[in-house]
Amino acid sequence: MSINNFPQIAIDGPAGAGKSTVAREVARRLNIKYLDTGAMYRAITLKVIRNNIDIEDKQTLEEMLKNTEIELDEEKRVFLDDEDVTEAIRQPDVNAMVSPVSCISLVRRRLVGIQQKIASESGGIIMEGRDIASKVIPDAHFKFYLDASLEERSRRRLKEQLEKGMQLAEDKVTADIANRDKIDSSRDDSPLTVVEDAIIIDTTDMSFEEVVNKIVKEVGVRLR
Ligand code: C5P
Repeated sequence: MSINNFPQIAIDGPAGAGKSTVAREVARRLNIKYLDTGAMYRAITLKVIRNNIDIEDKQTLEEMLKNTEIELDEEKRVFLDDEDVTEAIRQPDVNAMVSPVSCISLVRRRLVGIQQKIASESGGIIMEGRDIASKVIPDAHFKFYLDASLEERSRRRLKEQLEKGMQLAEDKVTADIANRDKIDSSRDDSPLTVVEDAIIIDTTDMSFEEVVNKIVKEVGVRLR
């Protein structure tokens, strides 16, 4: 993949580090595709919840995965088997189950396959998640790891949810984020890690614009 025509950018980091909003804006500025891989894990989790699937039951899970279609459109809406689930996948029930579901290798294999296909067919892409640099596109031209203190990440998540009209208790939001981080970082299959060649950005005291500018600048230096 040519770095100038098809730059591939990986963004990893813990929950609430601002990956989605930042990646979306970087994609807009660089005119490349954006993929929120967390939305895919969330969509599968929603289906697990709705169908009351026992995640230990690998056969049922495999059958379900074979018969599931996930689409993310250019407006960043998420479709599960043709149903728009953009709002449903951000609800507390999905937040609570998404990390355990994401530990399952069957689920990861299926979603990583789809993500790699999208990356290989795209004319430049920025993907964000937990295993993008380590697993999905290990040859990405740019690898960023976005972090922030737990306190700041909870504050941002709370604000984001308030703007969507969801009123959640601060301690619940903090506990959810801390719990997901713990599971995501300690699972056997593709845990959240900082790869050796990643550029680490601690966004705790940075504005959204500053983070976006830093990434666009880093990319710009190496692009013609
Ligand atoms: O990015 P977001 O917080 O929406 O991701 C939800 C969950 O999906 C994460 O907490 C993690 O368990 C899982 N995930 C993952 N690998 C990715 C993206 C998300 O395991 N590449």
